[in-house]
Amino acid sequence: MGMKYGSGWANHSTQSNVIPRRISMTTFDFTDLQLFITGPTQLRSEVRQAGTLPEFGHRDSESIKRFGPIWSHLKTLAEAPKDYEVILINGSGTTAMEASIRSLVAEDETVLNVSVGAFGDLYHTIAKANGKRAHLLSFRPGQAIDLGRLKQTIAEFKPAVVTLTHNETSTGVKNDIVSACALIHDSGAMALVDGVSLFGGANIDLAQAKPAMYITSTQKSLGLTAGFGIGFINSQAIEKAQSVKNRGYTSDILAHLKLAAKNQTLSTPNTTLANQMAVQLEYIVRTEGLSARFARHQALRDQTLAWVDQLKNYTAFAQDGYRSPTVTAVQAPQGKTIGDLKAIKEAMRQRGFLFDPGYGKLNQTLVDNNQPPIFRIGHMGDISSKQLERYLHELAIELQRLE
Ligand SMILES: *Cc1c(COP(=O)(O)O)cnc(C)c1O
Repeated sequence: MGMKYGSGWANHSTQSNVIPRRISMTTFDFTDLQLFITGPTQLRSEVRQAGTLPEFGHRDSESIKRFGPIWSHLKTLAEAPKDYEVILINGSGTTAMEASIRSLVAEDETVLNVSVGAFGDLYHTIAKANGKRAHLLSFRPGQAIDLGRLKQTIAEFKPAVVTLTHNETSTGVKNDIVSACALIHDSGAMALVDGVSLFGGANIDLAQAKPAMYITSTQKSLGLTAGFGIGFINSQAIEKAQSVKNRGYTSDILAHLKLAAKNQTLSTPNTTLANQMAVQLEYIVRTEGLSARFARHQALRDQTLAWVDQLKNYTAFAQDGYRSPTVTAVQAPQGKTIGDLKAIKEAMRQRGFLFDPGYGKLNQTLVDNNQPPIFRIGHMGDISSKQLERYLHELAIELQRLE
């Protein structure tokens, strides 16, 4: 069949049992798998090469050549209104989530953590770990936020701050944050949004939802490795943070904003990642283009859902109408086990792919409730429709073997 699958990938043929390319350096020997997990994601070959660009001093004028475009492209990609500033925090999405809690929830306030899965729960865990008065509103896995229940819960607990997950990576649900933020703002509360697995793969509705802080990271839909938490912060948040005590040091968004105004980070950044990020954001904004990138992710979602539809007894796990453009969770038929999915993972490895056998804790909960487990297909970053097609084709063969 001789089809070609993009120049950035190792020498995969279309045969089903390819031996993955191995990469060796000194005594190491790593396997170059195509990642279909939900982050980190596969890097384009140009991004891999950008990892060899020269390191630089982060307080030197060379730094501005990287961070200048990074800051401006991030704002473009977020379609950020004028009153939003962007910060880069060393760490990852979780680090930025913690900074939002430390900087924007005061001691005498209540924070409501709205959860539709594992990452909504994570925001609650972070709030409690920082000694905040936190209440959890959770929805059944696979469901999106129910606005009626959100409204009731806000009326009951009168939170000053409400956290939301834009794209719940454990279940494949994308919430309607425009409507949820409108409800939150009507009550006078402030909204914080975790958009970690969505940013770079879809429009994030920042201008319509206007959360005080929107958080994301590099290793999901941006197609980079992990290393920075990214925060978009509006003027309301900046004002509020000034009255919050004990913001910490590396978790203080105001400290980050001060350096961000000079296109710098608070502490020493990963300069390799900064080089790669400059190259990748330039590609996303100027070469692929926002609308093409967002349309590609929607098409990847639709392609995945069409594939699920024609599999016997497998179903899309997320509520219809709220299915994510960057990750699809698929529920296996009755009788399939967590062990079956782990076996699929190993079989797919032999074919050159890294398969995601579902979010561990969620699968245990499902199985404990006599429901079959889920697996996930990450279709985020720079994956092409042909790469996905080949992956789904080979995955179908392995799933059939389970019958
Ligand atoms: C991955 C993920 C996180 C955690 O982000 P890290 O960058 O791994 O710290 C938080 N929220 C969502 C929705 C995620 O997908």
